Amino acid sequence: MALKASFFSGMKDKTLPCRIRECKNTWVWSGEEQVRWMRDNREGAPQRMCPSCFVKFNELEDMQIPCSREGCTNTWTWTKSARLGAAKRGHTEPPHGRLCESCANEAKDIESREVRCRVKGCTNTWTLAGKEILASDGKTPSRMCDACYEKYRGFKNRHVPCRIEGCENSWEWTRGMQLESAAKGKSGPPRRMCERCTEIFNSLEDVELPCRVNVCDNTWWWPKFAQIEARLKGEDAPGRMCERCHALYKDLKDKTLKCRVPGCKETVHWSRWMQLEGKLKGKTKSPRRMCATCQEKVAEYAPKEVACKHDGCENTWTWSPEMQLGSVLRGFGAEKPPVRMCDECHQFMEEAKTEKLQCGSCGKEIVWTKEHQLHVKLGVWTKPSLCSDCISKKV
Ligand SMILES: [Zn+2]
Ligand SMILES: [Zn+2]
Ligand SMILES: [Zn+2]
Ligand SMILES: [Zn+2]
Ligand SMILES: [Zn+2]
Ligand SMILES: [Zn+2]
Ligand SMILES: [Zn+2]
Ligand SMILES: [Zn+2]
Repeated sequence: MALKASFFSGMKDKTLPCRIRECKNTWVWSGEEQVRWMRDNREGAPQRMCPSCFVKFNELEDMQIPCSREGCTNTWTWTKSARLGAAKRGHTEPPHGRLCESCANEAKDIESREVRCRVKGCTNTWTLAGKEILASDGKTPSRMCDACYEKYRGFKNRHVPCRIEGCENSWEWTRGMQLESAAKGKSGPPRRMCERCTEIFNSLEDVELPCRVNVCDNTWWWPKFAQIEARLKGEDAPGRMCERCHALYKDLKDKTLKCRVPGCKETVHWSRWMQLEGKLKGKTKSPRRMCATCQEKVAEYAPKEVACKHDGCENTWTWSPEMQLGSVLRGFGAEKPPVRMCDECHQFMEEAKTEKLQCGSCGKEIVWTKEHQLHVKLGVWTKPSLCSDCISKKV
């Protein structure tokens, strides 16, 4: 008895791993059992399940699963152990693509085939095994090559900010999408919209808007993208130039012009914008503009009516404040107006033509100037009837 006790006490309990590969638990092989095991001349250690697996194992039953080959009515057995292992990995469904025994044997004679990787831009292949060829009944499944799969596993789905400026949302750049852009040699996520913006985008149309240059009748297109951005910022349609105006504007430069008031040394800013408007109105010359100082000073003068320079004319012409200022700036003062004719006399001079008359005495040709005609019209002089020679003879 004493011997037996000491023999048993020499065998310590052992902790061994559960025989279900996917299980991390252990079970205890008692010293007593170990002795019995040796007494039966058995070697190594028994393959056993942990207590928890054992309980589950007893709840399970072998299952008959239909052969995955199309048209085959046979089944294969999904054993209790296999089911337990699958359950440990979180699977409750039987594995796909398994063949019944007879089909599996048949598949052994079918040669495997190389299939192009399903990732767009990848030129690798993967191997379609004989049993898969048999199961898929001629249809080729789409799958990625090993290299792509490796990469795929290294990726994580990423949240990428919406491409619409001012939108806080993001869209999901999936591992599959990342893989495709990597295969195409692209780095970084593409520019895309979030789901909400895409929805708004699809409800919109590009809008045609008038050119912001008032004198231009052209239009420009407001793209949907920009419309969403404006909507998010609570902004209205922007004022923008049409393509033609934009191209013209780009080539223009701000210029400095001389003030139009004679005698003034100051300059006027001629902006690109004003140049553009002028161009569109068909103006080829630079405008005549007044500097700021002159604009201020000119207000100090009032228009003055000045008598026409021609004797006998009752009309006046207007000495404008601007002309008065010009006179002052050139040192002539604003007291003595220049000698000028009225509008009516001016118009007469424009329209009249030099006439040829005949001398009433000798018949020689008399040239009747416009100026003389005007004086006659004003009643100061009389229409000539004799040539100068005949007049002097008369005298
Ligand atoms: Zn276990
Ligand atoms: Zn089968
Ligand atoms: Zn690939
Ligand atoms: Zn968005
Ligand atoms: Zn325009
Ligand atoms: Zn000026
Ligand atoms: Zn006059
Ligand atoms: Zn004469």
